[in-house]
Amino acid sequence: MSRVLVIGCGGVANVAIRKCCMLPEVFTELCIASRTKSKCDALAAELKDKTTTKITTAQVNADSVEELCALIKSYKPDLVMNIALPYQDLTIMEACLQCKVNYMDTANYEPEDTDDPEWRKVYDKRCKEQGFSAYFDYSWQWAYRKRFEEAGLTALLGCGFDPGVTQAYCAYAKKHEFDEIDTIDILDCNGGDHGYAFATNFNPEVNLREVSAPGSYWEDGHWVEIPAMSIKREYKFDQVGDKDMYLLHHEEIESLAQNIPEVKRIRFFMTFGQSYLTHMKCLENVGMLSTTPINFEGHEIVPIKFLKALLPDPASLGPRTHGKTNIGCIFTGRKDGKEKTYYIYNVCDHQECYREGASQAISYTTGVPAMCGALMMLTGKWTTPGVHTVEEFDPDPFLAALDQYGLPKSESHDPALVP
Ligand code: NDP
Repeated sequence: MSRVLVIGCGGVANVAIRKCCMLPEVFTELCIASRTKSKCDALAAELKDKTTTKITTAQVNADSVEELCALIKSYKPDLVMNIALPYQDLTIMEACLQCKVNYMDTANYEPEDTDDPEWRKVYDKRCKEQGFSAYFDYSWQWAYRKRFEEAGLTALLGCGFDPGVTQAYCAYAKKHEFDEIDTIDILDCNGGDHGYAFATNFNPEVNLREVSAPGSYWEDGHWVEIPAMSIKREYKFDQVGDKDMYLLHHEEIESLAQNIPEVKRIRFFMTFGQSYLTHMKCLENVGMLSTTPINFEGHEIVPIKFLKALLPDPASLGPRTHGKTNIGCIFTGRKDGKEKTYYIYNVCDHQECYREGASQAISYTTGVPAMCGALMMLTGKWTTPGVHTVEEFDPDPFLAALDQYGLPKSESHDPALVP
């Protein structure tokens, strides 16, 4: 029996909400609140006769702590699921603290305005001290640790697939397969084809910022940064086949390096087709990925926001996307004094996702873990007060829930390693 407030009603939230409504005994009441209320109303109307979960909707500007507090105080949820954008993480965490309610999200904080001088000061210092230059990092949300702990509240960060399930895979490997882990390679393969020359599978602004940034990996206790897309490997993925993949910076590397301190190297690779890369490079070269506003015929526009308006809505890719995703982690290390390797991953079919939840596999593989993370928090399995990432909790009930609700794991004890 619980009341949950979901903030955001985009591609990922749509999947998470549909999944929550399949478990009305846990998600008894749900309020869907977002910037555009009509999207919340449309989803609520569609689900009305399919679930006994009592759904209400609300309009909220999640950039405003005041508006969020007013909504939380009137709805009185047990948990706030932030499935809006990373830009809103801090305002929603702040509102949760002020209103004494548990919090979770699917991606770590980054600012919408990367030209903000106050933010830049902190960012420049972090780039120098830490050695990676991605716009996002955990420091902003980890700064809330003490306050959440003292309030007896739990904040669960980054509970999608990657970050999210990939960290549960690491916790699972550490618990069941290894005494010591030496290396972790996280491989994110999307073998799907949507038929467009260029489109992004989730929010274009967040996606393009991530992919066009320099890559980095963790090695021997420090970050190694490389130019964007400068490390390429080929890998043969189960049920997908041979793909080119590129080393990217990714947020879970930062928390894994802290929580599995013996690990010597952590890398993250994502597959990209040549058409995607050529388009992205071209758009970057002409300035379309810029977040700095320009004046165009008397109007101020932000190039990447304008580009977002031109690109296909990720939520519309579902019916067109065929093929599979394969996301997981390859480990090397030791168990009982013997060297060993291990690969744990999930394969997800775009069309099966669409048939079940009207979405493609990228939203599905993020929305299902978000629901499962909420399930862990609401059923008392993941409740340690403070601000935590997924690998800090017991992976077993979470992976069991993923097996049950649509993202079953596969394993190999003799995987091909990434050179
Ligand atoms: P969408 O752009 O499809 O949806 C975002 C939603 O948030 C929209 O409903 C939008 O409203 C709403 N929103 C944006 N700004 C505000 C605001 N100020 N106040 C209230 N609501 C707001 O994004 P996705 O569903 O693709 O992604 C959701 C989250 O999931 C993102 O944080 C993304 O980074 C993360 N993600 C995580 C992954 C993982 O594996 N961990 C993978 C993929 C995504 P409106 O309709 O008005 O635009």
